[in-house]
Amino acid sequence: MTVIAIDGPAGSGKSTIARLLAERLDFQYLDTGAMYRAVALAVHRKNLDPNDEESVRKLLPTLSIDLRGDRTFLNAEDVSHLIRTPEIDLLASTVSKLPCVREFLTKLQRDFAEGRDIVAEGRDMGTVVFPEAPYKFFLTASPEERARRRKKQLETQGEKVLYETILYQIKSRDKQDSGRSIAPLKVAKNAVVVDTTGKTIEEVLTEIIRSMDR
Ligand code: C5P
Repeated sequence: MTVIAIDGPAGSGKSTIARLLAERLDFQYLDTGAMYRAVALAVHRKNLDPNDEESVRKLLPTLSIDLRGDRTFLNAEDVSHLIRTPEIDLLASTVSKLPCVREFLTKLQRDFAEGRDIVAEGRDMGTVVFPEAPYKFFLTASPEERARRRKKQLETQGEKVLYETILYQIKSRDKQDSGRSIAPLKVAKNAVVVDTTGKTIEEVLTEIIRSMDR
């Protein structure tokens, strides 16, 4: 089992990079954000208070979350599109503060990695879930560039959202993700930091592959 851990804030390019890297190396791609999003969707559907740990804790054993390639399944339903909305963006960030959710998903992520070569992408891959990973990367980009990328991505899904609204949401998510007491977003020990601002996908990939060769 070889794990390449890629962490970084929303819109830093980590999903695109992780997916492509997995393809090139013939590794499995593990999108852990999709798992937090699936939990958020379930919380939303049940109308639960995302800050009420007790009710979320009771919900967790009823959930089966499955990642198959690019698709995310929640209790066998393909929810890949439903989890990519601005509402779920924020709700995922809120439920991810709950220790019971992190514990539940960390186990799922480690089970997924068992016996496989994977590119794991998220916020705590190198710090908490796979601290022994031989390759760790932390991707960053300015909030403005990340908001522009997110706007473009939402537009390709047919959603129209103001740039200013997205920038505000990105900054609040950053604050929530790095300010939480459990598994805060931070650079893991031994991680290579890659600033993707103004760089093409190919440039970032080359930088990552080169640093793995060293
Ligand atoms: O990466 P993505 O934007 O899809 O993640 C959605 C949210 O899930 C993040 O804002 C973060 O709060 C949470 N998350 C996390 N730990 C991970 C992956 C995602 O806390 N490993």
